[in-house]
Amino acid sequence: MCGIVGYVGSKSACDVLLGGLKRLEYRGYDSAGIAVVESGQLGILKDKGKVRDLEQTVYATWDETFRRRVGLGIAHTRWATHGSPTAANAHPHTDQSGRLAMVHNGIIENYAALKQQLAAKGHRFLSQTDSEVLIHLIGEFYQGNLCEAVCAALKHVEGTYGIAVVSADAPEAIVVARKGSPLVIGLGENETIVASDVSAIIAHTRQVIYLDDDDVAIITRAGAEVRNAHNVPVSRAVANVDWDAGAAEKGGYEHFMLKEIFEQPDALQNSLRGRLDPAMGTAILSGLALSPRELAGIRRIVIVGCGTSLHAGMVGKYYFEELAGMPTEVEQAAEYRYRNPIIQPEDMVVAISQSGETADTLAAVREAKQKGALVVGLCNVVGSTIARETGRGIYLHAGPEIGVASTKAFTCQLAVLLMMALKLGRCRRLSRQTGIEIGDEIRTIPDLVKRVLAGNDEIVRVAQQYATARDFFFLGRGCMYPVAMEGALKLKEISYIHAEGYHAAELKHGPIALLDDQVPVLAMLNDIAGRDKMVSNVQECRARHAPTIGVVTEGDTDVVQNVDEIIRIPRCSHLTAPIPTAVALQLFSYHVARIRNCPIDQPRNLAKSVTVE
Ligand code: GLU
Repeated sequence: MCGIVGYVGSKSACDVLLGGLKRLEYRGYDSAGIAVVESGQLGILKDKGKVRDLEQTVYATWDETFRRRVGLGIAHTRWATHGSPTAANAHPHTDQSGRLAMVHNGIIENYAALKQQLAAKGHRFLSQTDSEVLIHLIGEFYQGNLCEAVCAALKHVEGTYGIAVVSADAPEAIVVARKGSPLVIGLGENETIVASDVSAIIAHTRQVIYLDDDDVAIITRAGAEVRNAHNVPVSRAVANVDWDAGAAEKGGYEHFMLKEIFEQPDALQNSLRGRLDPAMGTAILSGLALSPRELAGIRRIVIVGCGTSLHAGMVGKYYFEELAGMPTEVEQAAEYRYRNPIIQPEDMVVAISQSGETADTLAAVREAKQKGALVVGLCNVVGSTIARETGRGIYLHAGPEIGVASTKAFTCQLAVLLMMALKLGRCRRLSRQTGIEIGDEIRTIPDLVKRVLAGNDEIVRVAQQYATARDFFFLGRGCMYPVAMEGALKLKEISYIHAEGYHAAELKHGPIALLDDQVPVLAMLNDIAGRDKMVSNVQECRARHAPTIGVVTEGDTDVVQNVDEIIRIPRCSHLTAPIPTAVALQLFSYHVARIRNCPIDQPRNLAKSVTVE
């Protein structure tokens, strides 16, 4: 998720590592740390906060002679997934002996079980992270050959990782490995640098090796020896990077927003990882910290949020009502706090906020807690205020979102709400079999999104036709109604086109007066319940000469003749359909905004985290 840099060579490792971390800052992070190997000793400095704070600590702690002498080290910017941002949780972490140090990006899914086994063998842990467990496990296997120990340990690990490991006994080598989290090795003159992306490397060299999943590599100043998971050498091509620094940060994408749209299959995979129980047909959401009996006692759900999170909550209402038979209300968080909301002892309040800092949502959390409700947070940023104050919840694990317009956090919110509804449903009326079937559908989500992304060129073509519009309507019904609202919000945010998300049936009650041949209508015509009614509503728009675009299900040929343009979504159930549909709408808005030359990553007047009322 965040940033790793490793260096071995003739320059000052401290300078190269700190410089590299600065280049990775754009990825978003909460803590930073560094470990160097010198004269058979490890030196580690780390804390929560910024890279420049770490830099000051490095300069205050290690004198110039030392800093110059050190030729090998690893460094990290952390974006917490397990345990709040604190000095103890910051990386690098060490093993039981204190002689091995490691930085890690990603999530060790089975860390709790591993931690228990290691604790039984006498290991003592200093942090709450999943990562520390991995370096202890590597230490457990270490008998003088670091690469062997890393390979042996990784066999027991489920989850994702990009890691860099050093040993106080081996001042000439760094061992790195990846699965699911990127790592790139830069090959320089008498130096080698490894990092999570090329932006930390290109100041030093443009010759790079992109590691594949399951690769392990030994890095020395002479270069890199890549091996497979069984410690057998494999060959990897050396590529030449011709990106400039700005393009490198965005992974070659033109904007962070586009990068984040394309990251969604991985982000969703991370959200789902380890959370579906195929045997019991339910979801494992340990952060809820509620037993099935306690969950069965909940009588009503109130969802609070703002903006995109509010739209996610509106989709969540369909999920909770349908799967769990649970009365659900969705409230704009500011409205909730300034009314005198009625809260019953059996209510569960679900607060949704990407940043976990949204002022109105936080105030709603405090009000609900004050009135004795059970409050659950659904946040992306670990250790954020809402996550801390609710004390229970589910993290999205979408990874840092840099683009101001939310994309991957929204789809991960939907995925998490769907899993919550499945779990609540299984605590009351859903059969195991139905639960298994829903779990199977949820598992297909990353692939559904991949297929939408593969249709990007088609969406570009549609966007080109409508990029000059001044007004837009997005129409939907059922769980596609909030998706239409989110689609309209995205278009407004980044393209500055006036767009309204409306319930298709509500159009006739007023807004239809605005339609003419200059006002396109984008309709959610997915082949799910309500589609035929949607088709009629689209006809009503066409009768007023509005140009129409339909989001349609692949293979649904009947519906195509009812619209001027189509955006195709893979066939899937109505439960999962909001996610690929939302992705298609994100791409549409993105391309319209790009064609209109808008500053997509920083739209005017908007802030990423809204910490004022
Ligand atoms: N899961 C690890 C942690 O919470 C790594 C997070 C990261 O990728 O920065 O410390």
